[in-house]
Amino acid sequence: MLQAAARAHRGPLRSRVWLSVRKSSRGRHQQGTLANKVAVVTGSTDGIGLAIARRLAQDGAHVVISSRKQPHVDRAVATLQGEGLSVRGTVCHVAKAEDQERLVATALEHCGGVDFLVCNAGVNPLVGSILGTSEQVWNKILDVNLKAPALLLSQLLPHMEKRGGGAVVILVSSISAYKPFTELGAYNVSKTALLGLTKTLALELAPKDIRVNCLVPGIIKTDFSKIYHKDEAFWKHMKEANGIQRMGQPEDCAGIVSFLCSPDASYITGESIVVAGFSPRL
Ligand code: NAP
Repeated sequence: MLQAAARAHRGPLRSRVWLSVRKSSRGRHQQGTLANKVAVVTGSTDGIGLAIARRLAQDGAHVVISSRKQPHVDRAVATLQGEGLSVRGTVCHVAKAEDQERLVATALEHCGGVDFLVCNAGVNPLVGSILGTSEQVWNKILDVNLKAPALLLSQLLPHMEKRGGGAVVILVSSISAYKPFTELGAYNVSKTALLGLTKTLALELAPKDIRVNCLVPGIIKTDFSKIYHKDEAFWKHMKEANGIQRMGQPEDCAGIVSFLCSPDASYITGESIVVAGFSPRL
């Protein structure tokens, strides 16, 4: 059924097929632009990742959520299932190979495959000079922010290929990729590298009909960015320098990800979309 839908996705009947109501593997009737698709979202028990997971599920997908801590996974699963959404959860520290394997196994066991991978988990363990960054901190930032998306995708790729086309990968970068923030040196570099990873993967996976795009958030009100949104002087400078009118919310990012996964975005790949209340590039 899903393969038929994927074939139809590339043909003129796609909207009729995608919008139809179908019975899910959990016995529910899914409806929406992403009906009966399966999404894996990393770092999705809070902030931007949780908002993305919720939106994809609201739009009809079965979503596998994950993060490092079991209580966070349990809380997020209970919250989203309480909203009537089709979600499963498992612990996955994205830089741990055994956790990646468990995430893949969870998606296959409970959802029967994977259509969308959203690599949202990211860390910045240090505020300080790039030249004062220790090798240990460099390794952590590059392992989690840059290498983990590529390694997790390598594991999921055979299963995404089995969908017969139409699978989608979304990487989550930052405006610091375009406009480096002082004292976020290695983090800035990791997020710039994700733009390159997006372009390279898009090229490599195009023959398999797998699209790869990048979400580039600005300052979004989450726990991760509290150092910035609680700093009045910084925020005043950001608003005046860039014409920003309000602080971003996680939901500002979620709709774009759902769109990029949808058939409406079927001719968009290798692209980076800024969600920041301003544009940091030409
Ligand atoms: P957040 O609110 O702090 O949430 C982070 C989520 O990721 C939590 O669910 C956390 O749960 C999980 N997580 C952290 N480290 C992980 C790891 N190693 N493996 C798996 N899961 C992990 O952060 P956020 O603001 O939503 O940020 C999400 C992404 O957006 C990051 O890639 C960040 O760089 C990017 N971003 C954010 C902003 C912003 O202003 N907020 C701006 C630009 C880019 P556990 O603690 O249970 O692991």
